[in-house]
Amino acid sequence: MKVLLVEPDYYSRYPPLGLMKLASYHRSRGDEVRLVRGLTNNENFNPDIIKITSLFTYAWKPVHMAIEYYHHHYSNSEITVGGIYASIMPGRIKTYYPFVDIHVGLFNPSERYLPDYDILKNVDKWSNWNKSIIFSSRGCVRNCKFCIVPKLEGRIKSITTSIQDFIHPDHNQIILWDNNFLASPRNEEILIELQDLGLRVDFNQGLDARLINEKNAEMLANLNVKTYRLAFDYLDERDAVIKAIDSLFNYGVRKRNILIYMLYNFYNNQTGEGDSPEDFLARINDILGVGCAVYPMRFEPLRSLKKGSYISPKWKANQLESIADARRVIGYGGAFPPYEGLIKKFIKAENFEEAFYLRSENRDKYKTKISKSRQKMLA
Ligand code: SF4
Repeated sequence: MKVLLVEPDYYSRYPPLGLMKLASYHRSRGDEVRLVRGLTNNENFNPDIIKITSLFTYAWKPVHMAIEYYHHHYSNSEITVGGIYASIMPGRIKTYYPFVDIHVGLFNPSERYLPDYDILKNVDKWSNWNKSIIFSSRGCVRNCKFCIVPKLEGRIKSITTSIQDFIHPDHNQIILWDNNFLASPRNEEILIELQDLGLRVDFNQGLDARLINEKNAEMLANLNVKTYRLAFDYLDERDAVIKAIDSLFNYGVRKRNILIYMLYNFYNNQTGEGDSPEDFLARINDILGVGCAVYPMRFEPLRSLKKGSYISPKWKANQLESIADARRVIGYGGAFPPYEGLIKKFIKAENFEEAFYLRSENRDKYKTKISKSRQKMLA
């Protein structure tokens, strides 16, 4: 059987892991497999099955374009659509394209396979990819209202006792995609394994600060990690986040290597709870004040069809724009690092407006100031 795997042409920093596992699964069954990105003419390859993946709901257009293109070119092939958008809005896809099959959630039979990294060599965007992406667990112990994980993956479960078999022999970096690594029942065993392996590790989805304790802080600090990512989504988490930063610092992690993901623009329609511009600024000041960097994350509703269009009742459009603007002008790689100039600007501000609005005549001045602070800090 010939299987064509399609990654639609949306923005992504990471290759399509689900399709790579499907590639290994189909190959183990003797199928001939090809992976393409976007709309690609596949000469000499007439697939029996086409499997199209999807990402966030707001990236739906490239998915629809892929369905139309491949259906038009291979009208006799079966088409299945999976991935996040397909799992959240299967009915929407079916309404437009009744002829496709939808796969909701994970495809469990392929989960135990090492992703087929070699298949990436034929896709320009991914041809130099050299990191192993691994889930050592799925699901989560928490139920954050803004998050799709509990709905898609349920309660946390460990997938493996060892990650060794999921590392490609040519790779020297590991990206862990566990949603809540420290909540995984096997996290200590994996931490020991990571230390023994000595490879560069990225806890890409962030570590749950509330679960960092003296024991795992020491283990985490001993790993080859460039940036430790934690989340600070509500003011109530403040003490846990500061304690986690202190614990990592006490075991030798430099604070400038800790990055705090910070959600804003979230509102819970059922409870009326949600962050406000002032509490966002308070959280930023807490983190910059202790010497770590802040990475703002604008909330997108799970079923959003247009990125950046949702505005929480506690925010105004111009306030949200001013954060995007500040990230571009005075941020670094979209983050606010703990540079002296930035700390002064935010901490001295009397309110959100003063902290974030950048008068156009002063933009260059801000940029120069922040860049001098950066030089000083890196010196
Ligand atoms: S802790 Fe993280 S993964 Fe778990 S529900 Fe909350 S946001 Fe989602």
